[in-house]
Amino acid sequence: SLLRKQWNIEEFDFGRPLGKGKFGSVYLARDREAHFILAIKVLFKSELEKAGVEHQLRREIEIQSRLRHPNILRLYNYFHDQSRIFLMLEYAPQGEMYKLLQKHQRFDNTRTATYMEEISDALLYCHANKVIHRDIKPENLLLGFRGELKIADFGWSVHAPSLRRRTMCGTLDYLPPEMIEGKPHDEKVDVWCIGVLCYECLVGCPPFETESLQDTYRKIVKVDFKFPLLVSEGAKDLISKLLQHDATQRLPLPLVISHPWVKAYSKRVLPPETVQDVV
Ligand code: ATP
Ligand code: MG
Repeated sequence: SLLRKQWNIEEFDFGRPLGKGKFGSVYLARDREAHFILAIKVLFKSELEKAGVEHQLRREIEIQSRLRHPNILRLYNYFHDQSRIFLMLEYAPQGEMYKLLQKHQRFDNTRTATYMEEISDALLYCHANKVIHRDIKPENLLLGFRGELKIADFGWSVHAPSLRRRTMCGTLDYLPPEMIEGKPHDEKVDVWCIGVLCYECLVGCPPFETESLQDTYRKIVKVDFKFPLLVSEGAKDLISKLLQHDATQRLPLPLVISHPWVKAYSKRVLPPETVQDVV
């Protein structure tokens, strides 16, 4: 089992790099014994210390390793040597949603509604387990073998949301009003974020995007956004019910899943359960 034993670097064959993050790189890998395919994220201890994020990484590991859901990226295990920490992650063959959105410009109702059902179900599970993600955005969503959504990147967003990589200086398009206003927040922040996500999937850019950080802030706290003509009535209805300034007024996740537009368009399929899911 991937969970039981103490692993080390010699027990894996490494394949192509899958990507690079702030603190290290991710590689495709296969364990030499069972030939199990996974992704290994390599982080340098010195860089984690320099940035003072060891506690955040510990949190990411604690949270992600105990969550078991088909739409949450599994963290199977981890190990370290003198200079590096290795995270053994579920491999997401179809990569980042962010890159797919760039390629397609925008997604159709079916793809978007399917993502909405998947992410709502995953967040419902998180919230039931007292976990708030706080950093939902296409860069943090990976895609499985059949294109199913996988939430990744837990624990990095607890103190400050990471800056958006796509823009030059970084904007905060997914930040909910209560976080901008410095008010206490709860799991309803994730519900706001899936409203922003739904809009960005259908339109191709997030609803409060502007040239400057200040203008984006202003638009978010006023919930000042418009729908282009291409957005269908059902999607508008859902997004409007998610992007509510008053967090208590946001549509509860079970009602996102049963929303008529989601019901009409979602083609969610659950991946078959694997051995790793049950261990
Ligand atoms: P951050 O440091 O803010 O988390 P990041 O998300 O870009 O930045 P990583 O999580 O280290 O950094 O991942 C780097 C890239 O590697 C991702 O953008 C993604 O394209 C790819 N990647 C990461 N994990 C996996 C995985 N499990 N399966 C497939 N690709 C992955
Ligand atoms: Mg990431």
